This record gives sequence, structure tokens and C-alpha cells, in this order.
Amino acid sequence: MARIERLPPQVANLIAAGEVVERPASVIKELVENAVDAGSTLITVEIRRGGASLMRVTDNGCGIAPDQAGTAFLRHATSKIRTQEDLFEVKTLGFRGEALAAIAAVSRIELFSRERGASAGVSLSLEGGSVTEQTECGCPEGTTVLVRELFFNTPARQKFLRRDATEAAHVQETVTRAAMAHPEISFRLIKDGAQSLHTPGNGVLLDCLYSVYGSEFARSLLAVESQAVSGFVGKPEAARQSRAMQFFLLNGRPVRSRTLTAALEEAYKNELPAGRVPVCVLHLHLPYDSADVNVHPAKLEVRFTRERDVFDMVYFAVKNALESDSSRPELTLAAPKTAALSFSAPPADAGAPALPGQRAMSVRDPWTAGEPIVWHGLVPPPAPQASVLPGLRSWRYIGEALGGFLLVDDGEALVLIDKHAAHERILFERLKAAQESPMAQMLLSPEAVALSAAECDALLESSGLLSELGFVFELFGPSSLLLRALPDVLEAENPAALLTELAALLLSGRRSATLRDDVLELVACKAAVKLGGGGSDGDLRALCQTVMETPTLRHCPHGRPVAIELTRDRLKRQFGR
Ligand code: ADP
Ligand code: MG
Repeated sequence: MARIERLPPQVANLIAAGEVVERPASVIKELVENAVDAGSTLITVEIRRGGASLMRVTDNGCGIAPDQAGTAFLRHATSKIRTQEDLFEVKTLGFRGEALAAIAAVSRIELFSRERGASAGVSLSLEGGSVTEQTECGCPEGTTVLVRELFFNTPARQKFLRRDATEAAHVQETVTRAAMAHPEISFRLIKDGAQSLHTPGNGVLLDCLYSVYGSEFARSLLAVESQAVSGFVGKPEAARQSRAMQFFLLNGRPVRSRTLTAALEEAYKNELPAGRVPVCVLHLHLPYDSADVNVHPAKLEVRFTRERDVFDMVYFAVKNALESDSSRPELTLAAPKTAALSFSAPPADAGAPALPGQRAMSVRDPWTAGEPIVWHGLVPPPAPQASVLPGLRSWRYIGEALGGFLLVDDGEALVLIDKHAAHERILFERLKAAQESPMAQMLLSPEAVALSAAECDALLESSGLLSELGFVFELFGPSSLLLRALPDVLEAENPAALLTELAALLLSGRRSATLRDDVLELVACKAAVKLGGGGSDGDLRALCQTVMETPTLRHCPHGRPVAIELTRDRLKRQFGR
């Protein structure tokens, strides 16, 4: 048998380094967190060549006393945890007293630090975790940590580093996340001598966002303000194709969590086309014992003790923000186009009020020979190309094409309406708007439907909500239900299939917050299918009218567009005119 021996500290540190230090960005994350913890108001991060050759983090925080400097680099050395009780609270902030030791184990470090008010500072050099030099020195108040030659003693890890630009991008993201987490701190990032980020540090999150992403981005944001969730979400039109612009911060620390992402995206469910995800910067303020950040030391992944409550909290906070968006209803028909069309009614003081339901994206004052009227707030300034006087813009139904598409000429564009999607969406909106349940229709003869035990249970468990929505049934034998009534928009053609689908919906683990809408979507979809096929000319005209005049008909419940448009400009361009 091999002898059991304790690992020398150097080896133990290398193992810890493997967990904590994956790439330059992970070093920056730890150093920046330390600077934040030290109470700094200015933090400057500098990297060269993606960070592998040099990283420097300078802060104006509390500093480290000369006799403590060496200790800070020992494993499990921390000033942040003293007792076992502390541990519980501190766990949620991710302190482990390991970062400096781990970073030092795989690099060459120089530290300069002076405590506030102290007459002299200290400088310390380390190589592979061992102190090579310590001297007194003059330096500004605060701390500078310089990390050179990351992974110089672990060539295998060095090989895993990506191109400098990739590593630099990760550093950029890390510093950005930290800046979002701390609008009260001014952050600066310098990459190869060029400044790439500078936040004001005035405590205003919007100013911080403005400085990082620019004015256009800042304008596309909606404030989120609830008891435990605050920050900003992007308007639907600011949606992206990746989640890189979703920032969640828990009690001031950047975190990731599937629950948070899911809640955010669920709130946008009917707002975005497939493949688009919302942007956000959301601060969560929760009791410290509601989360565990140490799922992985460096991965920021967080787990909540009550995931479902957290989901609902974020979902409703975001949903509220979206619904109180004063620039809504503003409808952009999907598909490539030159000028976005909006269904917004103009503000009353704009001089040319539109009648309800009339398109009024662009309004020109007839008295000033086509000079656009200046808009105050609410809607974006008019796009000159598509200008028209409200009230004069009319539309004409052309007919149905290709078995299911309605063509409308509105003078500026050819609008194509997906008959089924539009119908489904209209039904859904109507069902949703109905306060009570005027629509349960008793079946002439109740239908027995055989289901699995799980399906039965799921349906019975939600029978309260379902009966409100028009589905009335009761248990009938061990695993059958007797269906007594259906929403009146539906026909009892195949009640077994319908109940099975409902049960599947309930069993899919949907959130209570959206269950009602989910059921209504299913009903709308079925009802639209039921009416499917034909439709009289009058019906189709009525459908067009609703789409053309209803601001909120943006997408059908499944997020598909209801209508797309081909503008005259676009047609002209395509024909080379
Ligand atoms: P932890 O942050 O988990 O305590 P670290 O290894 O990151 O562990 O840091 C060890 C200790 O060094 C900290 O607890 C703190 O006392 C001190 N320290 C590290 N960086 C700074 C800094 N920038 N300013 C002041 N003190 C620091
Ligand atoms: Mg730390």
C-alpha cells in the first residue's frame, strides 16, 4: 500500500488554482471582487495581450497592512469570514479565502498596497506562490495587483488559452458585469493601452449602461421596479440573438441561473419572434439565505432555495415593466422593411390627433409643406419616407391568396396577413380580455374520457382554473373524467384529444403564473383551427379590419407574426426602379 501523505501547500494551491483560475477573465473577476470588497470607488483594470502576459487591477480601497500582505496569499486566508456563523451568510457572496493563493500559484505577482492614512505602503513579489521579495514602499492609498505570465509554470493550461482577442473579450465581459453590479464605483478598462470602458460611478445604473453601451441602447430600456427586483429590461425591439446582454445580479454579485433566464424570457413570450432573446440588467435583492452561489467556485452559477418563488418574482416584475411601457402599443410588422410601421396614436398635443385604430407613425403638418411635426416623448420622430396624415390612410382588401393569406393594400405597403395566425391571435386576445367565464357551454350529453392516472390528477388539480375557463369535468371511475362543458368557442369533436392536450400542458411543468394564458392559447389555437378552412368574404374583411386597426395584434400566441408587409420602396428596389 502506498503511504498516505499530506499534499505540500504548493501542490494544494495548484489544485485550487485549477478550480478558480481558468483564464485571464477569472483572475480579473477575483481581483475586481476583492477591490469592491475593499470599499473602493475607483477600479482600473489593465490587460495586455488578452491578459495572459499582464493584468493589473488598481483600486483606491482600504489597502492591506504590511504585516498582512504575505498572509493574504496563503490558502484559506481571508478577512471576510471569522466564524462558522459568518460562513452561512458569506457563502452567498462566494468568499473562500482562496483566490489570491490560487492566482499566485500559477503566475508571477507583484502587489503594492497602502492602507488609508498609513505613512508607507508595502510591496510584495511572488513566483508560483512563494514570496520572493517584500519591501516597504511609497505608493498611493489602495491596492494594485499585477499578474504576469499566467500559467507560466503549467504549460498544459497555457495551451487552453484562446486567441488574445477572445480572452480580452472575456475580460471585457467580466468588467462590464462588475460595473453593472456596482454603478456606485467608477470602472475603467484599458486593453493594450486603449481605454475600452469607463463608467461614471455616480450610483445611477442607467448612466452606467449609457457609458457602456451607448445612447441608443439606453433609450431602448424599460425600468423594472418591484420590491425585490430592480433594473432595466430592453424593449422587445431591442432583443438580441444571444444572451450575452442578460445580466443578473444577486445582492450586488453577478450571477447566472437558469431560473432567472427562464423567468425573463417567459415574460416576453408573446413579444418576440423565435430566436430572439431579451436584454436585461436586473438586480435581485434577496435574503442571504435564499441562495447558494458556491455551486461552482468560479462559475457564478447560483441556486435558490425557492426557485419557483424567484421565478414568479422576476416574471411579474418584468411583465409589469413591459405592460407599463408608455410607448406601447407600438406595432412593428415583421419581415424586412425600410420604415417601421407603428400603430401608436400620437400624443394629444401633436396637432394632428389620429382616430383610434388609425396608423399614425408619421404625421406631416399640411401647413408646413411636409415638414415633420416634432413629437414629444411617447413615439419616435416620424420617418419622412412613410408619412401620411392620420385619417387619410385607408386600406383596401384585395383578396385571399395561396389558400390562407389575405392581401391588403394600405397605400404604402402590401400587407400579407396569415389568416390562421391572425384569427388565433384575435381569439386569444378576446378570451384573455374576458373577465369571468361567460363561455362555458354545457354539452348536450356529457362525455366520458379515459386518461392516464397522471393526466387525471393533473386536470383535477387544476379544475378550479379550468372551470373558470369553461372546462367543466369531474372524476368518473378510477382514471376517467366526465366532461360536462367546454368553452363555447370549441366544439366537442374530439374531447379525449383535447383533454389529453390540456393534461400534457399541465404536466409540462408550466409555471402557475402563465398557466391561464397557456390554456387560453390552446383554446384559441383549437378554435381557430375549427373555423379554419373558408370564411366568407365578409368574415375575411372583418379579420383584416381587426388586424389593421388593433395595435396589440403583433404576434399570434405562439410568437409567429400575424402580418408582414412589403413596402412600396422595397418593391421598387427589388424591381430595380
Ligand atoms: P477572499 O476574498 O475570499 O477573502 P482572497 O484570496 O481573494 O480571499 O483575498 C484574501 C484577503 O486579502 C482578503 O480577505 C482581503 O483581506 C485581502 N485583500 C485582497 N485583495 C484586497 C484589496 N484589493 N484590498 C484590500 N484587501 C485585499
Ligand atoms: Mg476574494
